[in-house]
Amino acid sequence: MIRRAIYPGSFDPPTNGHLDIIERGAKMFDHLIVGIGVNSEKAPFLSVEDRLQLLTECCSHLPNVEVMSFDGLLVHFAKEQNSTVLLRGLRAITDFDYEFRIALANRSLAPDIETTFLIASEEFSFLASSVVREVARLGGDYGKFVPEPVARCIAARLA
Ligand code: ADP
Repeated sequence: MIRRAIYPGSFDPPTNGHLDIIERGAKMFDHLIVGIGVNSEKAPFLSVEDRLQLLTECCSHLPNVEVMSFDGLLVHFAKEQNSTVLLRGLRAITDFDYEFRIALANRSLAPDIETTFLIASEEFSFLASSVVREVARLGGDYGKFVPEPVARCIAARLA
C-alpha cells in the first residue's frame, strides 16, 4: 500500500518549523504533498507563487515531497490527490483546540480521511509564521527562523 499524505497550511512565510515537520513527515509516508491553501479573503504576506517556489526549493532534497497550492475545501483536495491522511503540527496546548475542531470538521465531511499530528521539535515550538512576519516588519533578525531562500525573498519584499 502506498501511503500518501497531505501537509496543508498557509506557509506565509514557510519557517524552519514547517520544514522540520515536512522532513519528519517525509520519513513516515511514501508520498507527501505540501498543500498551500489559498485564502482569497486575506491579503497574503508572500504571494502564493513565491510560497510555492520557495517550498519547492526548500524541499528539493526530499524526493518524495511535492509542493502544490489548492483552493476550496481541503478534503476535496485530499480526495483529488488520492490522499487519505492529513498531517498537521502541534506546538503547544494553544494549538490543540483549533486543530481538534478542524480535524473533527474534516472527519465529519470525509470519514475516510484521517488527521495525524506531529509534535513540534522543542527548538521550533515557539515559531509561527505570524512571529516571522512581525519580527520582519519591525526590523528584527528573522533569518534564524526561516530557510535561507525564504529570508532572501522576505528581504526583497521589504526592500
Ligand atoms: P494554518 O495557516 O493552516 O493555521 P500554518 O501555515 O501556520 O497553518 O501551519 C501549518 C501547520 O504547521 C499547522 O498544523 C501548524 O500547527 C504547523 N506548524 C506551524 N509552525 C510550526 C512549528 N514551528 N512546529 C511545528 N508545527 C508547526
